[in-house]
Amino acid sequence: MSQTHFFPEGTLVAVLTCEPIDRSLDYKAPAGGCEVGAFVEVPLGPRKVLGCVWGAGKGGFDLSKARSVSNVLDVAPMRDEMRLFLEKVADYTLTPRAAMLRLATRAPGLMNPPSMQKVYRRGAGRPTRETEARTRVLGVLEEYGGLSFTLKELADAAGVTPSVIKGLVPQGVIFEEDTPRDLPYGRLDPAQAGKELSGAQDAAARALRGAVAAQAYSTTLLKGVTGSGKTEVYLEAVAECLAQGRQALVLLPEIALTAEFLTRVEERFGAKPAEWHSGVTMTERRRVWKMVGAGGAQMVIGARSALYLPFQNLGLIVVDEEHDQSYKQEDGVLYSARDMAVLRATFCSATVVLASATPSLESWANVEAGKYTRLDLESRFGPAVMPDMHALDLRSEKLPATRFVSDALARAVTKRIGLGEQSLLFLNRRGYAPVTICRACGHQIACDHCDARMVEHRFLKRLVCHQCGETKPMPEACPSCQVEGRLAPVGPGVERLAEEVTERFPDAKVSVLSSDLFGSARALKAAIRDIAEGDTDIVIGTQLVAKGHNFPNLTLVGVIDADLGLQGSDLRAAERTFQLMRQVAGRAGRSEKKGVALLQTYQPEHPVIRAIIAGDEEGFWRAEAAERKMAGVPPYGRMAGIILSGPDLAQVMDIGNALARRAGPLHQVGAQLFGPAPAPIARVRGRHRIRLLIKAEKTAPIQRAVSAWVGQVKLPGSVRLQIDIDPQSFW
Ligand code: ADP
Ligand code: ZN
Repeated sequence: MSQTHFFPEGTLVAVLTCEPIDRSLDYKAPAGGCEVGAFVEVPLGPRKVLGCVWGAGKGGFDLSKARSVSNVLDVAPMRDEMRLFLEKVADYTLTPRAAMLRLATRAPGLMNPPSMQKVYRRGAGRPTRETEARTRVLGVLEEYGGLSFTLKELADAAGVTPSVIKGLVPQGVIFEEDTPRDLPYGRLDPAQAGKELSGAQDAAARALRGAVAAQAYSTTLLKGVTGSGKTEVYLEAVAECLAQGRQALVLLPEIALTAEFLTRVEERFGAKPAEWHSGVTMTERRRVWKMVGAGGAQMVIGARSALYLPFQNLGLIVVDEEHDQSYKQEDGVLYSARDMAVLRATFCSATVVLASATPSLESWANVEAGKYTRLDLESRFGPAVMPDMHALDLRSEKLPATRFVSDALARAVTKRIGLGEQSLLFLNRRGYAPVTICRACGHQIACDHCDARMVEHRFLKRLVCHQCGETKPMPEACPSCQVEGRLAPVGPGVERLAEEVTERFPDAKVSVLSSDLFGSARALKAAIRDIAEGDTDIVIGTQLVAKGHNFPNLTLVGVIDADLGLQGSDLRAAERTFQLMRQVAGRAGRSEKKGVALLQTYQPEHPVIRAIIAGDEEGFWRAEAAERKMAGVPPYGRMAGIILSGPDLAQVMDIGNALARRAGPLHQVGAQLFGPAPAPIARVRGRHRIRLLIKAEKTAPIQRAVSAWVGQVKLPGSVRLQIDIDPQSFW
C-alpha cells in the first residue's frame, strides 16, 4: 500500500476498475487531485467505467499517453481498512481484485449525480379559497411541524388527490423544493430501555457490552437454545455500539426472517435500520450504500454481501444462526460470510458475535483453541423449555410405500388438534415426489441437461430439475417405452406429504411452507405471520421453517425422515443432521406449553440420532471433533475443491489429468491431491463436471500453492475452472 494519500493533478494513480482486467490501470489525477480510495469514473476504450484509486501509478510507459481520471464521484472514499480487507479476501479466495471491487460497489447508479426528488412543506401564504380538501392538507402539515413530504405521502396522509397540493404551490401556501433522494435513516436511540433481562441474559449482555466498549477486535460465540434470548442479548451489544457512535451490522441467513427482526429493532431503538438483501429495491440499495458511507445509517441488517458495504466506523458484526450453510456464497466469489466477518472485524477493531443454538464445528473448535470467547444461555427464556425428543422406529411401523406419517405420529397430531395447538411436520424435500418411475419399464425421468432426476411439482403441474431449474410438463406416456398411464411417484416431497395429511385430517387447516411455493418474499412473510398468529393446525415445511421463526402455539414437531441428511459422503453430514434436527425440534414449545419432537427413523441406534435424542451436545461435538482430527479434515485440516466443467467430457477429463500430473507445487507444501473424478452430480446444464480435492495441514500456504499449480495448465475457452477454498458443498 502506498504511503501517499493525496495525488495532485497530473500525478499517476493506479485505478482498480470493476472490469474483468486483472490489474489496476494508470491514469492521471484530475483537476483538483484525488485521494487514495476515491471512487472515480475513468475512460476505458470508448466507455466510462467505475473504479477506485488503489494507490500510486506504476508508470513505466510514455506519460503523454496516459489518460486522465474523468471524474471523482461525490461519495465517501474507500477507507484503507476496506481496501486491505478486499485484498485479503481476494488473496484468500483466489478471486481477482476486480471481482472484489464489484462486490463492494453493488449499488446502481453510483456514477450518476445524486438524484433529487420533489418534496413539499408549509409555506407562509393562505389559500385564496378554503375548501375541505385544502384544510385537510394544511392540517397534516401543521400536525407534522416543519416536515417535508413527497407528493404521494402528503396526498395519502391528507386523503386528497395530488392536484389539490399542486394547486396550493403557486399561491405560496406550499413550498415545492428539490432534495436529494437518498435520505439518511431514522435515528436509532440506544438509550431507550430494552427488555428486563434474566440473570444469565444480563451476564451475557454485560460481557458483550464490555467487548464492544473496548473498541478492539474480539469474537464471541453466543450459544443458546432457540428462544433463550440470544437476540435480546446481542441487541444490547448493538445498543453499546450505537452509543459509542459506531455502526452495527447484523447478518441474517434468510430474508424471510428480516421482517420480524426489523420490528424488534424498531421496538428496541425507536426506528428501523437499513436493510440490504436481494429483496430490497435498487433505489433502496443505492440509498443504503450511500448512507452507510455517509454516516446516515447506524445499523444495517442484511445478507452476507452487506459485509462489503462502505462502513465508515464499523464497531460490531453479528452473524445470527452462524452455522447456517447459506453464509457460504456458492457462486461468483466463493467466500464464507462468517469467516470474512471475522476478518473484516480485525481490520476495523470491531466485535464479532456469532449467535447460534447449534454452532458450527469450526466455531466450536475456535473456542476450544482459545481464539473465540464463548457465552452460554442455558435455558429458554421464561417458562419455555426444550422439547422432549423421541425416536419413532419406522421398522416396527410397517408403513405402506405411499404413506409417510406413522400411526404414532398421527396420534400425536390428533391430540394437538384437540388441544387447539399447532403441529409441524418437517420434511426437507421440495415438490411432490423426488423420483418419477415408469412401472412398465423401470425408467426414471431425468433432466435432459443434468445428471439428476426430475422432481414432480404437482402444484406447478410440472417436473422440475433442482440442479438447473429446467421444467417440463408431466408426460402422459413414459419417454422411454411410450407406455401410457404407468408413471408413478416414488418417495415423498412436502406436497405429497400435504396430500396425505389433508386426507388423514380432513378438518384441519394445513399450511405448506416451502420456498418454491411463494412468488415473493412478501407472500412468504405473510404466510409465516399467519401461522405465528395461530391460523393453522398443521404446518408442513422444508428447512425454511427451521430458521428462527417464532410460532408460539406450536407444540409438536414431527420429523418425517430423520435419516435423510445422513446419507451421502459429505464430511459434514453428521454435523448438519445434528444441527438441523435440533433447530427443527426447537420450533416446538416456544412459549408456556412444553413441546415434543418425534423423529421418524429407520436407524434409531445410529450414533447421530442417539446424540440428538439424548441432547448430549458437548458429547456430540467432542466425538465429531475427534473424528475430523483423525481424518485431518476441517476444521483441523484445510481443503480446497477444484471443479472443472465444460461441454466435452474427454476434454475436461484431459485437463483434470494434466493438473494431476503436475501436482508438484501442491506436494511442495505437503498437500495431497485427490481426483480427478466425476463430480457427484456429473453433468449440470449440459456441462460435464470433474472434481479435484486438495487436503493439507491447517497451516499450509495453500492459496499460493494452488495458484502456482493451476497456472501451469492453459484452459481452453470452453472449460471453466472454479477454485473453492474451504468448500462447504461437494456436489
Ligand atoms: P433466540 O434469539 O435465542 O431464539 P429471542 O431473543 O428471539 O431468542 O427470544 C425468544 C423470545 O423470548 C422472544 O419473543 C423474546 O422477545 C422473548 N424474550 C427473551 N428474553 C426476554 C426478556 N428478558 N424479557 C422479555 N422477553 C424476552
Ligand atoms: Zn437440469
